[in-house]
Amino acid sequence: MSQPPDLPLPVARSVASLRQTVADWRKAGLRIGFVPTMGALHAGHLSLVERAKERADRVIVSIFVNPTQFGPTEDFSKYPRQEASDAARLAAFGVDVLYSPSVEEMYPAGAATTVSVGVVTERLEGVFRPTHFSGVATVVAKLLNQVQPHVAVFGEKDYQQLLVVKRLVADLDIDTEIVPGPTVREADGLAMSSRNAYLSEEDRAVAASLPATLNFVASQLRSGVDAGPILEAGRARLLKAGFREVQYLDLADAATLAPLERADRPARLLVAALVGATRLIDNIAV
Ligand code: AMP
Repeated sequence: MSQPPDLPLPVARSVASLRQTVADWRKAGLRIGFVPTMGALHAGHLSLVERAKERADRVIVSIFVNPTQFGPTEDFSKYPRQEASDAARLAAFGVDVLYSPSVEEMYPAGAATTVSVGVVTERLEGVFRPTHFSGVATVVAKLLNQVQPHVAVFGEKDYQQLLVVKRLVADLDIDTEIVPGPTVREADGLAMSSRNAYLSEEDRAVAASLPATLNFVASQLRSGVDAGPILEAGRARLLKAGFREVQYLDLADAATLAPLERADRPARLLVAALVGATRLIDNIAV
C-alpha cells in the first residue's frame, strides 16, 4: 500500500493491500483498532478515533458509503462524499491507514451472501427502514473480516445499530471487542451527523427541539411514571416545534430494545423524526 501524492496518509483501496498491512502489524504484535464510517467526518467520528487510539497501537478508519443499507427512496446518491478533506482530518488525528474501497471491491459481481440479525432489528429503525440492518450487518461482517481488528468503536448515536453489531459479533464468533462511544453534540444539543448538512437554516432551528424534547421526556420518565402519556406529549411537542412527522419516540430496554411501560430497569429513549426532507435519529439513556 502506498501513500497517494494527493492524500496525506496511506490509503488502502483493495482488500488485498489492507490485509498485507494488517498482517505486517499483527506479525509485529501490534493491537489494531478500527472505526468504520461513511465519511463526511465530524467531531463525533473523531471522538471514536480517539477511543480507538486509547485501545490500540494502530488505527484504521474506513470510509465506505454502503449502498445496501440505503432504501430505494433514500439518500445514497446525494450522501456527502469528501474524501480529500476527510483524509486530511484523519491524518491530523494520527490515523495510520484510511481504508476506502470502491463498491465493486466490496461487492464483486456474483456476491450472493447477506447477514441477517434477528430480534433486535425488528422494532424502531427496522420498521421504517426494513432492509437497512441487513445491509449494515453484511457490510460490518465483511469489514471486520477484512480488517480483523482487536477492537472496533461504534457510536451510541446509532444505538440500535450498536446492539445489532454486538449481536452479530457474538453470534458469528468474530474475535473483535466492540466498544461504544458516547454521542457528540453541537452546542445546542443536536447530535452531530453527516446528514445535518442537509438542513436549511429553518430546519436546523427546528432540529434543536429534538435533543431538548429527549431530555425533557427522559427527566419525566426517570421518576418511574407510566411512559405512554409522556411519550405522547413528547411527540406532540416535536410536531409543534416544526417536525413534519415523528416516526417513533419510544422507551425501550437498553439491552434488548423490548418496549417498556416505565423506566424500571436500564432503559433507552429513542426517536426518529422528519424535518423538511431530512430524517433525524437520536437517543439517550434513561
Ligand atoms: P456514519 O458515518 O454516520 O455511518 O457513522 C460512523 C460511526 O460514527 C457510527 O458508529 C456512528 O454511530 C458514529 N457516529 C455518528 N455520529 C456520531 C456522533 N454525533 N457522536 C458519536 N458517534 C457518532
